[in-house]
Amino acid sequence: MTIAENLKKIKEDLPENVQLVAISKTKSIEQMMDAYEAGQRIFGENKVQEMERKYPDMPKDVEWHMVGHLQRNKVKDLAPFVSMIHAVDSLRLLNRIEREAGRNERIIRVLLQIKIAEEESKFGLEPEEVVDLLKSNEVRNLKHVQIAGLMGMATFTEDQNQIAKEFETLKNLYDSLKEDYNFNTLSMGMSGDYPLAIEKGSTMVRVGSAIFGEREY
Ligand SMILES: *Cc1c(COP(=O)(O)O)cnc(C)c1O
Repeated sequence: MTIAENLKKIKEDLPENVQLVAISKTKSIEQMMDAYEAGQRIFGENKVQEMERKYPDMPKDVEWHMVGHLQRNKVKDLAPFVSMIHAVDSLRLLNRIEREAGRNERIIRVLLQIKIAEEESKFGLEPEEVVDLLKSNEVRNLKHVQIAGLMGMATFTEDQNQIAKEFETLKNLYDSLKEDYNFNTLSMGMSGDYPLAIEKGSTMVRVGSAIFGEREY
């Protein structure tokens, strides 16, 4: 199947309130343009350098999402054009985004990454840490950062029950914060598990290989 056909098929099953981020890491501008011409506007990358390199070669109405772990010293490279940063997990990173977005007179939307997977991961906040962070004065005073919601990645496993439980945990946390903090985005679900993620309440899925084919490194 072609990229356009893959996209069409995925979009057919997507509820209206769910946004599709096309994860284009390792893929060429030509492949991304196939998706663009098929109507796709939101693209996600997990490496700053790759996103910076691709940005000038894509049309200006593309919305760029950084979905990978972001180092503080790289924020300035993305701040002029990135729309959303999905994997924010510290106050220090939030403060850096605030500073660089301010310098560019922009508002950057971010999602707080929550640890829901069983495997040990260096990245992501524990559910208990999120509330403290959101309540802190520093976070409440952010002017150039809009915390739009939460993001999570399920355990890499075949066990659908486990994945479903992890998505439910994230959705419950999201629901408990949504009104107080004006959240509108819950980013969960990738190629292997996005139908389940949608069933569990995702509003934004991050799909790479199901659109562009398997990645070769
Ligand atoms: C690569 C990646 C995806 C997409 O993975 P696929 O399995 O190819 O859909 C989604 N989210 C993040 C954070 C990624 O790094």
